[in-house]
Amino acid sequence: MSDWSRAALEALDESDPLASFRAAFQLREGLIYLDGNSLGALPRRTTARLERAVAQEWGEGLITSWLGADWMNAPRRVGDKIGRLLGAAPGEVIVADSTSINLFKAMTAALSLRPERSVILSETGNFPTDLYMMQGIAAFSGGRVRAEAVPGDMVLDRLGEDIAVLLLTQVHYKTGRSRDMAEVTRRAHEVGALVVWDLSHSAGAIPVDLNAAHADFAVGCGYKFLNGGPGAPAYIFAAQRHQAAAVPVLSGWFGHAEPFAFEDLYRAAEGIERFLCGTPSVLGLTALECGVDLMAEADMAAVRAKSLQLGRVFMDLMDELCGGHGFTLVSPREDVQRGSHVSYAHPEGYGIMQALKERGVIGDFRDPDVLRFGLTPLYLRHVDMLEAVLAIREVCETRAWDDPRWAVRAAVT
Ligand SMILES: *Cc1c(COP(=O)(O)O)cnc(C)c1O
Repeated sequence: MSDWSRAALEALDESDPLASFRAAFQLREGLIYLDGNSLGALPRRTTARLERAVAQEWGEGLITSWLGADWMNAPRRVGDKIGRLLGAAPGEVIVADSTSINLFKAMTAALSLRPERSVILSETGNFPTDLYMMQGIAAFSGGRVRAEAVPGDMVLDRLGEDIAVLLLTQVHYKTGRSRDMAEVTRRAHEVGALVVWDLSHSAGAIPVDLNAAHADFAVGCGYKFLNGGPGAPAYIFAAQRHQAAAVPVLSGWFGHAEPFAFEDLYRAAEGIERFLCGTPSVLGLTALECGVDLMAEADMAAVRAKSLQLGRVFMDLMDELCGGHGFTLVSPREDVQRGSHVSYAHPEGYGIMQALKERGVIGDFRDPDVLRFGLTPLYLRHVDMLEAVLAIREVCETRAWDDPRWAVRAAVT
């Protein structure tokens, strides 16, 4: 028996310093949402804020809202707020575009700082868009750049004088394994390489200190743990020391030193603004700011402590209640190596997840056989871990996964 009786879990919820955050989210009664690492839940305040942005700022203010509602500064303003969660200084983070596009910007900027080097190095099994964007840059470069991916445990050994850029995701999207940002960055810098960190599963999930780690560039999503809404704009970090020399390859007019001078020749803006490209997505930024503001009210150390506790409870209960049902833990058990989701492999993983969704337990499935359970400390309770694992056990015992409806996989898993 584990120590996690229902009463013990309810006691943890009662003394939980983050418990009050749950009411700040719209979550239907009975739902156990374990997919906040893919799409964060809706903060209630976002609904009213978007209503105002649409009806007043857009509807009434029209174009005057670029100044009147400060739309113009939103990318920088929200970027600075995200920067505070990431250990960045003001003026080092800006919100723009998607994570994929920002990966392109960060990698090409880093390449511009290492003109004598040719290799972008990453790990096999990294999030696909990271690998695809790296391959796209190599394909476009006419031989100047080579994209290379090696298994995760060989990345540090592969570092050498030919590596221009090391591209890594801090918390792996599938396994939830977390890398030591300071140590990896130090090793890369030793051979003169720059690092681009993908923080999609880090921001709002684990404490991040970019400047303490001497990070060079970073990117990440707004719609996962930051609760910015579907397709929320992403962010890019460029360390102050690199900004003046880093060439913005996506040299759109919003990154120009004076966009409204309408000059023929591009001149990059002085600071982080040079990583803007086109007109910002104002409604997306508005929703993202609500999520970031809410996250900023939480103590990150408490978030981390609860996230780890939720993970331990979930894994212990899986051992205890689902031990004989064929699950293999693919996430690290050790706290320091784990981000904020826990994953299991199971040959019937896809069907199990579909059956769970029908029972109001929402996680997700990643090819070929991985079930992911996102643990978001702001709106999950400890007792939810028990409810979820009981549902998993029921699905296994009744073979509810064995259903012809799930013979063909849906477009989104
Ligand atoms: C979710 C995720 C992305 C998503 O990129 P988009 O451009 O927003 O689709 C990128 N990288 C990682 C590591 C992710 O987990």
